[in-house]
Amino acid sequence: MKAPAALTEDHTRRQLPVASLATVRGHTAALIRHHRRPLAGVLGWHALAALTALAAPWVIGQLVEEVTHARRPDRVTHLLVLLGVALLVQTVLTWLARRAAFVLAETVFARVREEFVASAVRLPLSLLERAGTGDLVARTTGDVEALAFVVRTGLPQLLVAGTTIVAILVTALWTAPAAVLAFVVAPVILAVPLRVYLRRALPGYRWERATYAALAGVAAETGHGLGTLDALGRMPARGAAYREALARAEAAEHWTLRIRMRFFPWCDVAFGALVAATALWAGWLSFEGVIGVGAAVAVTLYAQQLIDPIGEVVGWLDEIQVAATGYARLLGVGEVPPDREPSGLLPAGDDLEVADVSYAYRAGHDVLHSVSLALRPGERLAIVGPSGAGKTTLGRLLAGIDAPSRGRVTCGGVPLVDLDLPTLRGEVALVTQEHHVFVGTVADNLRLPRPSAGDAELYAALSAVDADGWVRALSEGLATRVGSGAHPLSEAQAQQLALARLVLADPHTLVLDEATSLLDPRAARHLERSLAAVVAGRTVVAIAHRLHTAHDADRVCVMADGRIEELGTHAELIAAGGSYAALWRSWHGASPAAGSRRLPSGPRHTE
Ligand code: ADP
Repeated sequence: MKAPAALTEDHTRRQLPVASLATVRGHTAALIRHHRRPLAGVLGWHALAALTALAAPWVIGQLVEEVTHARRPDRVTHLLVLLGVALLVQTVLTWLARRAAFVLAETVFARVREEFVASAVRLPLSLLERAGTGDLVARTTGDVEALAFVVRTGLPQLLVAGTTIVAILVTALWTAPAAVLAFVVAPVILAVPLRVYLRRALPGYRWERATYAALAGVAAETGHGLGTLDALGRMPARGAAYREALARAEAAEHWTLRIRMRFFPWCDVAFGALVAATALWAGWLSFEGVIGVGAAVAVTLYAQQLIDPIGEVVGWLDEIQVAATGYARLLGVGEVPPDREPSGLLPAGDDLEVADVSYAYRAGHDVLHSVSLALRPGERLAIVGPSGAGKTTLGRLLAGIDAPSRGRVTCGGVPLVDLDLPTLRGEVALVTQEHHVFVGTVADNLRLPRPSAGDAELYAALSAVDADGWVRALSEGLATRVGSGAHPLSEAQAQQLALARLVLADPHTLVLDEATSLLDPRAARHLERSLAAVVAGRTVVAIAHRLHTAHDADRVCVMADGRIEELGTHAELIAAGGSYAALWRSWHGASPAAGSRRLPSGPRHTE
């Protein structure tokens, strides 16, 4: 069975890392160590339950002896009562054991989930953007489910099966060791198929999960951009991408299915052979007088009893492979190194400085070349330039989202990437027009940057952005639940919440990415007022897509090909007659005197 080429590909190239098998083993061992006591309790209950389950074959064996030799009829009655009691006790003990196992499984799973969430929220933004959210979504859904299924259902059943197998073997050995020799046929038959299966299953499932993640990514992106795709007539192309991702997932599923289909028939052969060999061997031994007929019957019944728990273990082996893959992917998220190491230094001022900075998204392909720029506290700087000039990239460096490849971006003398995130966000924030409403109350949404803020502070921030009115009008005010599935907020209200968050974070510098507005003009005007209140008194860097922003700014920075071409006030740049002046003239037609008017028509974009 030749492995498909996709199995040997590096699926992690554009995805988040996947932990190694050794890491998975290490974490599993740590989980077991940490829950040693409850685990011992669960095992104890199961051992007791399994031991009482063994009474039945033994009692039946004794019954056979009694009936065969017909020595003491009253003993038959006693044995029957004993059989009833044993079954009752076994039922109660099994219930207790399962209950303990479920409680343990939920405790373990809660811990795993909390650790995953903690590492997921620590992921560097730049990495998440590169990997796409589909991978993370697949990990938080499919992989968590696969692991949860094994921990919740598999772990209790495996514990039952494991202790049952051990107890049956011990009792069978105690009953008639010679007869137990026949049990060896099962491992002999299974040894090679099991090795082959285990060797193929893990990489197979890993490949399968990676294709699911890719499929989830395509689905999420398609869902997100449905309107745009439809408008641009890109649905057929999107359909092709979807079919391709689906075909990959299908190929992976076929491969893992083939692995299972080749292994499971061997299990059936081994189980049949186990009972047949034991019956024949134990029968022959009793015929030869080595063991009693009752012992032969009991050991054969034990062999029969072994099939279910072994079958269960083998069945779960498959799910365990899937879960181990899922766990490796969950742990992989925790292996992403942090993109910043806070040095503990705090800025000694509000001045932001870009010093000889270069930046490359891919090594060797600089998109910014030796850019230097010093912001003056309180000024409004507009960055203009053609599309692809590097405006957004410079904005991200100024907001401390990415670290420069060379050079430094500092605030008060300390590199931005040396600050921890809460400190950084108190210094400078990037404001885009994409906003997210988190599921929770209005207050939860506002308190993200300042968890300790009281209601009065929250209302003050809301009133600064002119949003206190509608929040007070909500049925439960700040305590109203918003976000998906709760009270719906309009796009403008979501943006106001985001702006109020900024007021609470209170950074001295804002980087505004004026991406093309998604809002209708009336909402946009209203928001502009809110935004004006937020930017007042702060240093503002506006990545300008409309030239009037540049005109209104204190200074204009013209970028082209990753370099700063011109820097100065609007008047200075017009007087210099360079590329800005040319741009302004072409935008503004022949009447530069009308500069302060905001033109509703004409080429509004600098790109
Ligand atoms: P602007 O905002 O002026 O349009 P950008 O900063 O977005 O310019 O882009 C500058 C250059 O960097 C462009 O050549 C663009 O293709 C490239 N670029 C932007 N984002 C990425 C990315 N995530 N990965 C690789 N290249 C990128």
